[in-house]
Amino acid sequence: TLTGCGKKENVLVVGTNAAFPPFEYMGGPNGDEAKGFDIDIARQIAEDAGKTLKVENMKFDSLIVALNAGKIDMIAAGMTITPERQKAVSFSQPYYEATQVVLTQQGKAPTSPEDLKDKIIAVQLGSTGDIMAKEYSHNVVAFNTGFEAIMELKNGKVDLVLFDSEPAANHMKKNPDLQLTTLAFEPEYYGLAISKENAELLKQTNATLDKMKSNGQYDALISQYMK
Ligand code: GLN
Repeated sequence: TLTGCGKKENVLVVGTNAAFPPFEYMGGPNGDEAKGFDIDIARQIAEDAGKTLKVENMKFDSLIVALNAGKIDMIAAGMTITPERQKAVSFSQPYYEATQVVLTQQGKAPTSPEDLKDKIIAVQLGSTGDIMAKEYSHNVVAFNTGFEAIMELKNGKVDLVLFDSEPAANHMKKNPDLQLTTLAFEPEYYGLAISKENAELLKQTNATLDKMKSNGQYDALISQYMK
């Protein structure tokens, strides 16, 4: 094997940040297996390509760098398709619609986006929530995972967390002391990111997504993982 590469012909190496339930999280008997909605989609893409899936868990903020350095073949990380990221990578067709939501302590819910102005906001580093938070406030603190941002809120160190809707709802289950507020923020669309040099994999990924959307597999995953 080549060092610093880890890639073999028959393996699809997918990068993720497994702290974004239900899209990706660590599970299995020993808590060392990446699981979730994105991982199941990635497994199907690998299978359709006649490859085995290997998941590399890394910081969200390192994923695009790792992809363009050839360390991974694909990013499956609830990554929002943005014009900025499209300069660096190719995205598959959208596979999930999300939005940013606000988490606060109970009773501290904002009533409009203006309420975010100059609040102390915790976010995940390099996320769309991070970018959006900076439009509202100079007091943005960024963490490597949304989980850490939420811990900061629980500890009373920040006023609110901006995070993706589904993972935020997922974290709420374990944090009934917090409140989730949906404001009128723009929708975001998740895509699988692939190197601009790998047109073959992009084509094949879109074909697998088309297939999963039409044969009921996609809807089955939605029922299995969401809410
Ligand atoms: N959807 C958000 C983004 O693309 C957050 C993704 C994540 O934290 N895994 O920035």
